[in-house]
Amino acid sequence: MRWEGKHVALIGLGISNMAVARYLVANGAIVTACDQKSAAELGARYVELTKLHVEFQLGPGYLANLERFDALFLTPGVPKHLPELRQAQAAGVLFSSEMNLFFDICRAHIIGITGSSGKTTTTTLLGELLSAADYSTHVGGNIGRPLVEVAGELEQHSWAVMELSSFQLELLQRSPEIALITNITPNHLDIHLSMDDYIQAKSHVFTYQHPDDWAVFNYDNETTRRLAAKAPGRVAWFSRKQVVDRGACVIDQRIMIANGGTLSQVCHTDEIKLMGQHNVENVLAAIAVADLVGCSIGAMRDVVTSFTGVEHRLELVRTADGIAYYNDSKATTPAGTIAALNAFNRPVVLIAGGYDKNLPFDELASTVVQKAKHVVLLGATSDKIASAVVAASATTVAGTLIPQIEFAASLEEAVILAKAVAVPGDVILLSPACASYDMYSNFEERGRHFREIVGRLTEAETPTRS
Ligand code: ADP
Repeated sequence: MRWEGKHVALIGLGISNMAVARYLVANGAIVTACDQKSAAELGARYVELTKLHVEFQLGPGYLANLERFDALFLTPGVPKHLPELRQAQAAGVLFSSEMNLFFDICRAHIIGITGSSGKTTTTTLLGELLSAADYSTHVGGNIGRPLVEVAGELEQHSWAVMELSSFQLELLQRSPEIALITNITPNHLDIHLSMDDYIQAKSHVFTYQHPDDWAVFNYDNETTRRLAAKAPGRVAWFSRKQVVDRGACVIDQRIMIANGGTLSQVCHTDEIKLMGQHNVENVLAAIAVADLVGCSIGAMRDVVTSFTGVEHRLELVRTADGIAYYNDSKATTPAGTIAALNAFNRPVVLIAGGYDKNLPFDELASTVVQKAKHVVLLGATSDKIASAVVAASATTVAGTLIPQIEFAASLEEAVILAKAVAVPGDVILLSPACASYDMYSNFEERGRHFREIVGRLTEAETPTRS
């Protein structure tokens, strides 16, 4: 797409659209920056955009008259169903995003990873696998440096390993050479109108693929297994439960790569450093893709048996008085917290709750009743989670230990309450099952705050992991 002389509006001035603004201005587009914030609220961003000589449409009327533009660049997370946006789309205005621009500019091979959970872990692990096998690799997408900045630097033989959120995929009209869907469970139903809408957005990771491209699906997840039938290219699988024809699977607790009739052993499941069955799935997903790229079994073994994970994901903060404190702040969905609870076979004191994304908590509650001895709830969803746990407790068989529920007004109070009931051998787990926006700017801030509180309230037995 040539941008010279095109009238383009940027909707939402986050980090991603700021990078888009720089690129489009440099390529001759006539750019208007739209945001509900005022110039004063935008601060440094406003100043930078002024220097780029863009026009502004700020404040309550920021979505007015969008029909006059050739294209709109939507910041990730803007609900596409806002009436003004629908109207613009109906009028034939092109909807685009930073990710589309990245696909246009990038000369490197692109691997796109999406799913409801496990994206960051799998993306990071795959990046390590490809680097260990000496491929020139760039890891990015949902996180890290703005993509349009990176795209120009990547060479043709390099591999861009991209974590793609459903928001980024929603507007994407291209698919990567290799696509991976880790799993699909309910998420972001506050912004996507329905589960079908969410699945549809995720599917863009493979819908535009060519016949030679690869799409890798989770065989054990019903939704992704069904989606495979729609893939226009070649299909590979990963599975913890079934032997697959092409991809990665577990046979007698051994991690295997399958290629037609050939099976190659990578390692034993016990050798994986990451905790929990969900991480076995992430390992399988990453090596299935690494195999398609050409990564050797030796390089896979080295990385899989040494990778210890990404911060805020089941991260051991400290062990104090025989109690292990885990920061799983990134578990922003019930499925994430279910996975975390299932990773422990010790009594768990769970700290959960946060911003309400309208996700159901009944399945989480059933796992909580089985795995947690005590639950401390905080944030906007605390009442909803409490009701679900009470309802799940009522259906448990007689004699089952039902978890006690307590409420906290702050994370600090939650840690104090959890510490008061934990005994040596227990785990105190922050795994909120919800986003953090009711109390924090993001999950990282919440996780850092948890680490800081634990550091202050306990004496370390083992050094804190940084
Ligand atoms: P994402 O980037 O998709 O949010 P992460 O790798 O950051 O995924 O992991 C976020 C949380 O989701 C983890 O803390 C863990 O609780 C849970 N999780 C990770 N991988 C999986 C998986 N494969 N299946 C279910 N839950 C998972």
